[in-house]
Amino acid sequence: MTTAMGDLPLARRYLPKSLGDKIALAFTVIMLLIVALFELFIILPDIFPNYGTLYNVYVCIGLFLYLNCMGNLIMMTRIDVTSGTTVLPAILKTGWRYCHVCMQNSPPRSFHCFNCDSCILKRDHHCVFAGKCVGYYNHRFYLVTLLYLFLGSLFANFLNFDHAWALLGGANWKSLITMIVPFVAWIFGFTERYTFMLSFLCGTCIVACALIGVMCYYYTSLMLHGQTTHENGTRCKDYDLGWKQNLKDALGERWYLVWLCPFISSHLPGNGLEFKKGRTMEDIKDM
Ligand SMILES: [Zn+2]
Ligand SMILES: [Zn+2]
Repeated sequence: MTTAMGDLPLARRYLPKSLGDKIALAFTVIMLLIVALFELFIILPDIFPNYGTLYNVYVCIGLFLYLNCMGNLIMMTRIDVTSGTTVLPAILKTGWRYCHVCMQNSPPRSFHCFNCDSCILKRDHHCVFAGKCVGYYNHRFYLVTLLYLFLGSLFANFLNFDHAWALLGGANWKSLITMIVPFVAWIFGFTERYTFMLSFLCGTCIVACALIGVMCYYYTSLMLHGQTTHENGTRCKDYDLGWKQNLKDALGERWYLVWLCPFISSHLPGNGLEFKKGRTMEDIKDM
């Protein structure tokens, strides 16, 4: 039986089905933990050897970023993104399609995911790193996870900069190789094991920050235009109701609060089965 958290349905199964998704999810969780511990026990004590007030402030900022990142990721995997126990109509309505795998009528904007083995409401894409599809009910958690991954990696890069620079010995070609390809630098003996590990983690934070920054921009832009990834690919703008209504449709009525904590409830205006099309005059005035 599926239960509900607030007005969000919970999934029967939290962990991904496929082995590839399980490995990717484990990688995400372990890397987040390693980077958090690395900053907490190696970088911060090095920056603040006396553990003063600023150290405590930085620990609090780091904890806030880490907990929000993990909390939203967990919520993303816990929420049911299928039609759940809702009885779907037996007659094919306009805009609906028949899914030959689920053998049922599927609502507009939903698509079948072969990894999740189900039709997903307002399917955006299958997120390998969470081992789950991004759909109507967990869109909010996906976007906020991305936001905190970006802010977290930005914060880590800010903390790492001086430390990594000093340890690598400034700007020279050996330190550049060590930072960009630490494995190669380690194999060729340019660097010690400790420096290799430090370079690997610092390099990971830099690459993660750049990639997640691009993803943040892309998916936020799609959300503000009321599009899923598939609709963006087919240039479909049928569901663009103006940025403010699009925000509410994706993040819920309390869209301005959801970034604070994953447990703040934010009622979604629809049911994931029917969607308004086009812009009303009121929506255009709000833009
Ligand atoms: Zn299906
Ligand atoms: Zn999926």
